[in-house]
Amino acid sequence: MTHPHTRTYWLEHAWLDTHVEPGVAVEAADGRITAVRTDVPAPPPGAEILRGLTLPGLANAHSHAFHRALRGTVQVGSGTFWTWREVMYSVADKLTPETYHALARAVYAEMALAGVTSVGEFHYVHHAPGGARYADPNAMGEALIAAAADAGIRITLLDTAYLSSGFGQPPTAHQLRFSDGTAEAWAERCSVLKERDHARIGAAIHSVRAVPADQLETVARWAEERRAPLHVHLSEQTAENDACREAHGCTPTQLLALHGVLGPRTTGVHNTHLTAEDVSLIGGSGTGTCMCPTTERDLADGIGPAVALQNEGSPLCLGSDSHAVIDLLEEARAMELDERLRTRTRGHWTAAALLRAASADGHAALGWQEAGAIEAGGLADLTTVALDSVRTAGPLPRLGAETAVFAASAADVRHTVVGGRHVVRDGAHTLVPDVPQALAQAVDALRG
Ligand SMILES: [Zn+2]
Repeated sequence: MTHPHTRTYWLEHAWLDTHVEPGVAVEAADGRITAVRTDVPAPPPGAEILRGLTLPGLANAHSHAFHRALRGTVQVGSGTFWTWREVMYSVADKLTPETYHALARAVYAEMALAGVTSVGEFHYVHHAPGGARYADPNAMGEALIAAAADAGIRITLLDTAYLSSGFGQPPTAHQLRFSDGTAEAWAERCSVLKERDHARIGAAIHSVRAVPADQLETVARWAEERRAPLHVHLSEQTAENDACREAHGCTPTQLLALHGVLGPRTTGVHNTHLTAEDVSLIGGSGTGTCMCPTTERDLADGIGPAVALQNEGSPLCLGSDSHAVIDLLEEARAMELDERLRTRTRGHWTAAALLRAASADGHAALGWQEAGAIEAGGLADLTTVALDSVRTAGPLPRLGAETAVFAASAADVRHTVVGGRHVVRDGAHTLVPDVPQALAQAVDALRG
């Protein structure tokens, strides 16, 4: 017996975590999968047809939406992470709740077109330039939550504590709008944010540079009390490690461990320059690792020890971070290809493991444990990759996962379904009519 609000999808090929299954019918009601039937060789009457390989929806676990405005312009000249940061601050200076909403709506629409169904927004541009509070002190966070709704994707707003320019130093002029003054004030502001159907609230510590050691526990406790995800930029740069050793006589990972920040609901972002003991602390505590390889290579950060972290018990998730490109398949493939270059051997990450990082483990890191698998009871979030494009035609369908990870790109995403709603159909966004134009206008508004 079929419920009147039940929708049926017929998946030409489905990725069921370990293998490609041909001919799968998925029934969904009220945004959730209610049944998965295999051995369905033809579409049932009235079914939505998803031709290609359908994956569980992809999770982009680390985003700073406004960095999208830097695309291209930061590829001229030379420099380091730190010189790039100066350019990034000049864009941050120009954001208002209105311009940020417009930009994030377009960026999240670009993500939907790339098959992303959930984004983790690591959000620290809280206040007006100079630090004045908006009438609603959460106006910027609310703009991001609204932007995700307008683009049809889920968001975990990882509201970020950012209080210091580094180890006892007050915020710089650029950073004043990031700071709540104290972790207590940060917690008070965040506590007002409300979760919605498409939005969850998590916490973030910008880095051990930006939150004084004696205030780390306040942020960790806030997340603990709410069972909320807690993210932290960790050892992206050796300069951070050096300054931390100077100030505290230990590594950033050791400092986080000492102050109760590590644990299974915590995700370290980048985890690039770690000692063997750091790897054990992160893995042994069940802390997750979010790698952002397209950004890490763009910023000349280095290659983190993701394989060793995984072996020690740290689950991997992926993020497009600075949005040099937005393509979770490219992030996934970079994990394996970077290891190949470093080790001159192949076979560190399987396509299956990388798809798990791009979906189930990414969702878990963002507090959406019920997403990331095509199974009854899960959220009806699906991403379909074409297997008949110029990039993907040829391989046997049973190699669909390997084809998607190692040959496809965001341009091959044909359908994105979020909570049973078709947000991208046949490569076109159904809610934002002209995504390139929306991006161009939103970026232009921040120029000059
Ligand atoms: Zn980041």
